[in-house]
Amino acid sequence: MHNNTIWLVIPCYNEQEVLPETSKQLKDIMHGLIAKGKISTKSRIAFVNDGSKDMTWSIISQLHERDAIFTGINLAHNRGHQNALLAGLMTAKQYADAAISLDADLQDDVGAIEQFIDKFIEGKDVVYGVRSTRATDTVFKRSTAHAFYKVMKFLGADTIEDHADYRLMSKRALEGLSEFKEVNLFLRGIVPMIGYETDVVYYERHERFAGKSKYPLKKMVSFAIDGITSCSVKPIRMITSLGILVFSVSIIMLMYCLVVWVLGDVVAGWTSIVISLWGIGGLILLSLGIIGEYIGKIYMEVKERPRYIIEKVLYKDL
Ligand code: UDP
Ligand code: MG
Repeated sequence: MHNNTIWLVIPCYNEQEVLPETSKQLKDIMHGLIAKGKISTKSRIAFVNDGSKDMTWSIISQLHERDAIFTGINLAHNRGHQNALLAGLMTAKQYADAAISLDADLQDDVGAIEQFIDKFIEGKDVVYGVRSTRATDTVFKRSTAHAFYKVMKFLGADTIEDHADYRLMSKRALEGLSEFKEVNLFLRGIVPMIGYETDVVYYERHERFAGKSKYPLKKMVSFAIDGITSCSVKPIRMITSLGILVFSVSIIMLMYCLVVWVLGDVVAGWTSIVISLWGIGGLILLSLGIIGEYIGKIYMEVKERPRYIIEKVLYKDL
C-alpha cells in the first residue's frame, strides 16, 4: 500500500475537441491506480488552461464541478506551453508528492502513467518519458528534431533525446525547479540540471486524438532558438573564434600586400584599402565577440539560476 498523492498536469490551449475524451481516459486510469492502492484518493487531474479562445475553460470547470478528481488552473493569458506547464507544476508542488506532465491531445500514451508511478515508488525523483519510435511523425519533424538534438549536444546542453515534456517529477525535484527563476524557460534543458536520480519510461507516441497541432513551424523554430540560447553561450564564443580567424588572415594579407607593394606591381591605394578592410573587419568581429562574452555573463547572471541544489546532508546531532 502506497499513499502517494500524484497530480497529472495537462496544459491545454484550445483543446475543446480532445478534452472530453482525455478526461475520460485519465479518470479511468486514476481510479484504477487508486483501486490498486498505488496512489491516494487525494490525487488529481489538473488541467491548465493557457488562455484558450474556445470552450476549453468551461469544459474544465464543468469537469471539476461534477468530479473533484479534476482540478482547473486558469491562466490570465496565453503564455505558451512551457509556462502553462510550469504554472501547473508549481501548483501541484503544494499538494502532491509527485506530478506527471503530459499533453492534452493523447499523443503521450496514457497507458505509461502506471510505469512512471512504479519508478517513483522505487525512489526515482525524475522519470523521463522517451518515445520508442517516431513513426507517427512526419519525416520533416523527425529529421528537424534529430538535427536539434545534435546541435544541443554540440553546444554542450544536456538534453534527453526523444523526450518531450512527458515526465514525472517528485516534490523535491519540483522544488529544485522552482529555484530556476529564468523567464525564458526551456524545461527540457533545465530538468536535467536539477540532478537527483532519474529513470526512463519508453512509450509509443500516438497521433493527435483530435484538433490541430498548436505548434506550427514558426513556433517550433522559435522554441528551438529559445532552447539553444537559454542553455548555451557557445554561439557567442563562435563569434570570438571567427574574429580571431579573420584577424589572423588580415595579418597574412598584410604581409602579402607589403610584398606585392615592394615588388611595385600594384594600383596606387590598393594596399592600404585591402589591409584596412581585413584588419578592421577582424578587429570588429573580435571586439564583438569580447563584448558578447560579457553580455553572455550578464545574461546568465540576470537569470539568477541556483548555483547548486543539495541532494542530501549527512549530519548527526549528538
Ligand atoms: N499548448 C499550450 N499552450 C500553447 C500551445 C500548446 O498549453 O500556447 C499545449 C497544448 O494544448 C497541448 C500541448 O501544449 O496539450 C502540446 O501541444 P501540441 O499537441 O499542439 O503540440 P505538438 O504535439 O504538435 O508538438
Ligand atoms: Mg501534440
